[in-house]
Order: sequence, then C-alpha cells, then structure tokens
Amino acid sequence: MSETTKGFNTNAIHAGAKPDPTTGARATPIYQTASYVFEDTDHAANLFAGKAFGNIYTRIMNPTQAVLEERVAALEGGTAALAVASGHAAQLIALHPLLSAGNEFIASDKLYGGSINQFTHSFKKFDWNVKWASGNNIDSYKSLINEKTRAIFVESIANPGGIITDIEPIARIAEDAGIPLIVDNTMATPYLCKPFDFGANIIVHSLTKFLGGQGNSVGGIIVDGGNFDWSKNDKFPDLSEPNPSYHGYKFHETFGEMGISYAIVCRFLALRDLGPAISPFNAFLILNGIETVALRMKQHSENALKVAEYLQNHEKVDWVSYAGLNDSDYKSLAKKYCPNGTGAVFTFGLKGGYDAGVKLVNGVEMFSHLANIGDAKSLIIHPASTTHSQLTDEQQEASGAGKDVVRLSIGIEDVSDIIGDLKQALDAI
Ligand SMILES: *Cc1c(COP(=O)(O)O)cnc(C)c1O
Repeated sequence: MSETTKGFNTNAIHAGAKPDPTTGARATPIYQTASYVFEDTDHAANLFAGKAFGNIYTRIMNPTQAVLEERVAALEGGTAALAVASGHAAQLIALHPLLSAGNEFIASDKLYGGSINQFTHSFKKFDWNVKWASGNNIDSYKSLINEKTRAIFVESIANPGGIITDIEPIARIAEDAGIPLIVDNTMATPYLCKPFDFGANIIVHSLTKFLGGQGNSVGGIIVDGGNFDWSKNDKFPDLSEPNPSYHGYKFHETFGEMGISYAIVCRFLALRDLGPAISPFNAFLILNGIETVALRMKQHSENALKVAEYLQNHEKVDWVSYAGLNDSDYKSLAKKYCPNGTGAVFTFGLKGGYDAGVKLVNGVEMFSHLANIGDAKSLIIHPASTTHSQLTDEQQEASGAGKDVVRLSIGIEDVSDIIGDLKQALDAI
C-alpha cells in the first residue's frame, strides 16, 4: 500500500518514518549533527556532483528533517517537500527560484500581517515586486498579470479574519499565464484544506502554528505539487536552463518526470545559498505534533464554532467573522474548500470599539495575550496594535485587522471554560 492510498491519520503518524535501522528506536531520533561521514572519496565526489542522493551537511538536509518533509508531502498529496527555519523562510525559499530582480508576483491582500511586510519591504530590496490583488475578486488577479509576473500567492484560510479563498478560479488564472499558484495553508493544515486538489502548484506552511500545534518550535515547509511544467516557457531559468552553480544541471530536465524538480531547486540552490535550515530538534518536536493534527483541528474547529456562536449572540459584540457561521459570506466556499471544519482563528468587533477591545484583552484569564496562533491553548490579540501595526490603515482594513478587531485562536481546552473566560471578561466591560 503506497502512502497516497493510506488514510490521513495513518500518514500523520507513519509517513516517512521507520524504526531506526541501527538502534531500533521507534520514535524518529533527533540527528543532532552538522555533517555526515562519506564512505570514500568516490562517494563524496558523487554526492557533490549530484550523481547520488545522500547526506552532506545539515544546512542542506538532515535525517530528522527528511522524515518531517516526507510526512507533510504525504499529508498534502505533494511529491516532495523542504522544511526550513520558519514560515517566513519558507516564503523566501519558495519564491527565490521563481523570481529575478525586476520580476513581479501577485498576492492576495488578505494575508498574515508579517507576510504583507515581508513582501512589501524586504522583498522589494531584491527588486521582487509584489502587486496586491483584492481577496476573492478574481478579475483583480487577472488584471495584474503581465510579462514580468512569475507567481500568485494566496492563503487558503486567510489570517486573521476567517476568510476562505476561492482557490480554483485563481489557479486557472495562474495556469493560463504559465505561472504557479502558491498557497499558504498554515491556517487550514491539510486536514481542513487540500489546495493541490484545486489546482495549486506549491504549498507553504508556517509549521510553528497548527502542524506543530503546541507553540514550542518555529519552522516552515514548502511542498512541491509536482504538477507544473517548468520548461513550458522561459520564465523560470533556475529550473529550465543549465545551472552555472550546479554542474550545468538542467533541473527540470533531470527531475521533472519525478515531479520533484522544484523541491530540488529550493533545496540545492535556494536553501544551500540563503541558509535558513531548520534545527533537527525543532523538526523532531514538530513531527511529534503532526501525529495529532487531525484530532486537534477537529477540536479546534468545533470549539471555535461554539465560541463564535456564543459571541454572535452577545449584546456587547458588534460582529463576528468566522467562516463556519451559518450567515457567513464564506459559508459556501467553506463547504467546498474546508469540508472538515473552518479552523481555530477568527475575528470579532465589540460595540465599544477599540477601548472595549483593550479591556477584553486585559480581562481574560485563561486566554494568553500573545502574537501567535495554532497553539493547543486559547490565544487572544488586538492585531491593529500588534501583528498588523506596521501596516497602513488601508492595509489593516483590507486584511481584516481594523482598529476594533479582536483576534482569537481557539484552543482545545473544554469549550465551557473557554466561553466562561470570555464571559467574565465581557461582563467586566
Ligand atoms: C505565522 C505565519 C506565517 C509566518 O510563519 P513564521 O513561522 O512565524 O515565520 C506565515 N503565514 C501565516 C498564515 C502565518 O500564520
């Protein structure tokens, strides 16, 4: 039985892993080593020449990391994956093979605040130029495509506002333009949404969030869908042309049939040269977190729906934006893209506006006030003064993080205690 025919929970526990061949250890060991001994000089030369696969140096690969990569690739239905130091590093490494100075990429304006910053300011210094499309306004993507465009980037469930992206028509626009669609699937995890089923070509994650699931390690990953022909036009020379820094390899010609040429280029060019490798210890902790991702996402989604319904009926609450609610604008998209639930994170506004929001954040006891999502613990934050504070007012509004917005990441505690904590804090306003 191949991994693609096994069930989600089986893959979440077994994909990529075997008992350790030397010691019999059942848990995947932490291979805490920087480098690996070559068998002989021929072996070393073949590894460096790309004629044999094998471990060279932990900036490029590590056995603990390799299990993590196989596991996430199996869960997403991709061909290969590359784990890196953080979600932001994943975005950098994912785009590096695709963009040269002067190129453009299109991104949805409904994104994690940190990604809006990274794209607007830091990538600008490479002369990688982001053009912002408007959420699910499909024409806004089409109208931004030109000769310089090299990718489209969206989030499946968009942070922070409980927004579901209409992936399929956006994937069609990318395909027509001969460029890949990259989907950040952090908020959904493959348990809630499978972007490759709807035409995505590349998936990125912040492993820090729901895949790790316990708020103890920062990490990121890029998954290759193996469904893009990198040689069909001349837009992607790192994949289609002989590479001067890698023995004149034509990566797509060599690895295209296996559907892993993009993942190979991310590893052997972008990660090798830019360097944000994940530590073996973080890979180990995240791997253990992934074993329970389905159970957690189910509980996160059930709890979040109950909390959203409670808030919606509360007299001090002005509005609630959660795609799982019956009257959400995203209800039908949620049914299509997220049939197993709509996740843990959503936003709401209080009738008392900014001041009431501050009181609520200060009044909760079990909720942690911090800048993260996807912990087993319930979390609360006021995005406009924190995660989204570097954005302009317009960007804050567009990304669903206006001044009155409170963001919750509902944990997997007993929902009665979660609601009880919000109730006492709301009563005190
Ligand atoms: C947190 C987050 C990121 C960035 O990931 P880090 O691991 O913090 O670098 C990217 N996208 C989304 C949707 C996130 O929530």
